[in-house]
Amino acid sequence: MTSTHAFWLAGRQATGEDTFDVTSPWDGRTVGKVAVPTDAQVEEAVAAAYAVRDEFAATPAHVRAAALDHVSRRLAERTEEIARLISAENGKPIKWARGEVGRAVSVFRFAAEEARRYNGGDGQRLDTDAGGQGRLALTRRFPKGVVLGIAPFNFPLNLCAHKVAPAIAVGAPIILKPAPATPLSGLILGELLAETELPAGSWSILTVPNDRMPALVQDERLPVISFTGSDKVGYAIMDSVPRKHCTLELGGNGAAVVLGDWASDEDLDWAATRIATFSNYQGGQSCISVQRVIADASVYDRLLPRIVAAVEAQVTGDPNDDKTDVGPLVSEDAAKRVESWVTEAVEAGASLLTGGERDGATYAPTVLADVPADVTIACEEVFGPVLTVQKVNGETEAFDAVNSSKFGLQAGIFTHDLQTAFRAHRALEVGGVVIGDVPSYRADQMPYGGVKQSGVGREGVRFAMDDYTYERVLVLTGL
Ligand code: NAD
Repeated sequence: MTSTHAFWLAGRQATGEDTFDVTSPWDGRTVGKVAVPTDAQVEEAVAAAYAVRDEFAATPAHVRAAALDHVSRRLAERTEEIARLISAENGKPIKWARGEVGRAVSVFRFAAEEARRYNGGDGQRLDTDAGGQGRLALTRRFPKGVVLGIAPFNFPLNLCAHKVAPAIAVGAPIILKPAPATPLSGLILGELLAETELPAGSWSILTVPNDRMPALVQDERLPVISFTGSDKVGYAIMDSVPRKHCTLELGGNGAAVVLGDWASDEDLDWAATRIATFSNYQGGQSCISVQRVIADASVYDRLLPRIVAAVEAQVTGDPNDDKTDVGPLVSEDAAKRVESWVTEAVEAGASLLTGGERDGATYAPTVLADVPADVTIACEEVFGPVLTVQKVNGETEAFDAVNSSKFGLQAGIFTHDLQTAFRAHRALEVGGVVIGDVPSYRADQMPYGGVKQSGVGREGVRFAMDDYTYERVLVLTGL
């Protein structure tokens, strides 16, 4: 018998009237049964968060920092167990799952550090004008209110951490909603938060079904929505609540640009290895996966065989095996969608250089060249282990190709030239430019997010803290 995983209602475990199953995309076994909160329980969690918001905002920084440090430490202690859980429900190869736990350890630690130094107050002199004589402005940041954090399936622990840790750091209560395919990794955070002294109502983790989310999204007691997921759902949420503060961390079709000066054998080997690894990392189910390679004509013919060889060296198989690079996608339906996009591209004239095969939920690492510009895979986020390769002439054409996408999350530019790096930084319509590596590089403390269809706002611990708070000025008179 599979036991039922409780959700977390105002800091304590609870079960509702209903449950749903979480299944492994690798072998279809039931990983767990998860309790679904009733409407009354959701109301109780929201009311508790709303009621505790002033008390939580006033909690001393050292108390919040200690709680965050505790969660970080406990995550580190339980790494192997939690990594196995991520791998079981998500299908992520175990080596990548361990890496994800390590990142969540850092996110909570960074949040603890930020909580200690954030919001000490900032003064502006006002006597630069006669009207301001004898006055001083003191600015501090205060929480906007309760945060509703909505997380996707692909980093089921770390992207929950990116919602929860900054909220605790600024003293904003949070209602976290993990993804239905992968709720267990988010619910684990509850076990660690429950070991802290944080006020009971300050956090809840609710496994609310998607069809009941609109009511929560509309609730006026939750003025901040931090959403990570698809552009379709994200923009629908933002459009439905135009007066709320929405941070949207959405999709992308990340480009790796290899320019003409990146030309030694060593350069091309490094680029090919990084491209192959990070187009297949988690089966390509990362918002900053490499989906497009844009290579200068002068290096294209030497780069392409290296990429194909490196992609073919990726080990596909059981996510529990330490040697596996590429596991299943989140579901067989997801793999069938990827398969249909590849078929469409090939029928339209693209060359299939390797891959193109599906086995259940697993899709083989795939490389396509000569892809017509109007097929789905050239325009949309594939979210699967498929790479398209395109030849360009020179830097301007390469940067134009990057910017031709409707998405704008991150771009990676392989160049040694400092001036090119600055020009890329200026020209590319993305949230981040990585020089000398793929677009898939993310450090959890750096500002992270997109432009265009890739979203609005920034995560990265301190930047999410800015998003969850606003400046309130105190004007002192008679000085
Ligand atoms: P999704 O949009 O299907 O779901 C995301 C979350 O929204 C889930 O928790 C889901 O249950 C919830 N949801 C669904 N319908 C909702 C509704 N009507 N109201 C409120 N919430 C609702 O996305 P997914 O398939 O879980 O994740 C994949 C997507 O996430 C990809 O597009 C990927 O690029 C993106 N992503 C972006 C980032 C980033 O930081 N930019 C990081 C990881 C993933």
